[in-house]
Amino acid sequence: MLVKTVLNKVEHFKSFVFGTVIFEKIEGAEALVIEVNARANSKPECSKCEKKGKPHGTLPSRLFEYVPFWKFKVFFRYSPRRLICPEHGAIVEAMPWSYGKERTTISYQIYLARWARRLSWKETAEVFETSWDSIYRAVRFVVHYGLDNRILDNITEIGIDEIAVFFGQKYLTMVYQINAGCTRLLWCGPERRVKTLLRFFHEFGKERSEKLRFVCSDMWQPYLKVIAKKAPNALNILDRFHIMKKFNEAIDEIRRIEVKQFKSQNQENVLARGRWLLLKRPKNLSDKQTARLGDLVKLNLSSVKAYLMREDFQRFWEYKRADYAERFLENWVTRALQTNLEPMKKVANMLRSHKPLIMNWFKTKGHVSCGAVEGLNLKAKLTIRKAYGFKSTECLKIALYHTLGKLPEPQCHNRFC
Ligand SMILES: [Zn+2]
Repeated sequence: MLVKTVLNKVEHFKSFVFGTVIFEKIEGAEALVIEVNARANSKPECSKCEKKGKPHGTLPSRLFEYVPFWKFKVFFRYSPRRLICPEHGAIVEAMPWSYGKERTTISYQIYLARWARRLSWKETAEVFETSWDSIYRAVRFVVHYGLDNRILDNITEIGIDEIAVFFGQKYLTMVYQINAGCTRLLWCGPERRVKTLLRFFHEFGKERSEKLRFVCSDMWQPYLKVIAKKAPNALNILDRFHIMKKFNEAIDEIRRIEVKQFKSQNQENVLARGRWLLLKRPKNLSDKQTARLGDLVKLNLSSVKAYLMREDFQRFWEYKRADYAERFLENWVTRALQTNLEPMKKVANMLRSHKPLIMNWFKTKGHVSCGAVEGLNLKAKLTIRKAYGFKSTECLKIALYHTLGKLPEPQCHNRFC
């Protein structure tokens, strides 16, 4: 059977036919080269507007890499025609298997992008003997297609969070849809600034923003203001995870101060390697860790006091009735403010000033899963960690949309990918 027959079963281009198939040395290795010819009497189409125009000469032949076949790299060879478009003047024709100056065919880009979701981009490039850059372009093509063709209807619940990227204080603001049955990355943008979130709402559109019913976020004041203004019909929920994170930050600060004191007074550092002990919930500790914690509790340390205060506060989330929970919160805050633990007092003040938004959590208990934000953020961090070679936030955004966006894909003619 001829290669052409096989290919015709996979790819069909209306105004083009496959011609001779030959072996040729390309980049030092034997490759399969398939000539592509325009159908006799077919008129070239403008690559900008797809209008047909009068042929106006031919460019030198170009190679377009296709999906590899057994042990061979496969290329299409075609000499693009030029045409006179009534609108765009002299221009290169549109080729349905490629776009712009790209030398990888669309089919192969989709194929590579699928593999790049399972493997890292670097690994994909190695397996398919191509460059990291061509994998990036493949993923970018698929992501742009997905962003242009995705449907943004019926989004009523979103979560907003940020993740640190690279090694520095660089952040990406992430906006996720967290509706039951559809959780995905909706948008991400560099930095964590008011204008970042404003840009999301601008792109998301007023009409969609007005349909939002719940927004999960942390308690960063500038974002709270933007949410209140741009999603006027949504209940802003401060979820358990973000609030407990503030407790852990406070415990960590107190522990650091205490360790410094030990050092300056030449005392034994009983808190050495105690960080995780204090940050973990007791139920997640091993037997050995539980025993060590028991020893620490006897020592009347500020770190341990802060730890016990956090554990005490966990009861807040167990309340069934919001009014009881609110009373508990008030009591806890009063007690915390009477201590001499400054970071914990800060947490207490924060709880008090955000009380209405924290109490929103009780109004939606069981309905909105803010936990989805955490899950998605973990996946995002994994994507970033796998991302050796991502040089810019633009690359990173493409990778994040690719893995978390649940984007529609262009039609793929190849299996096994
Ligand atoms: Zn045109």
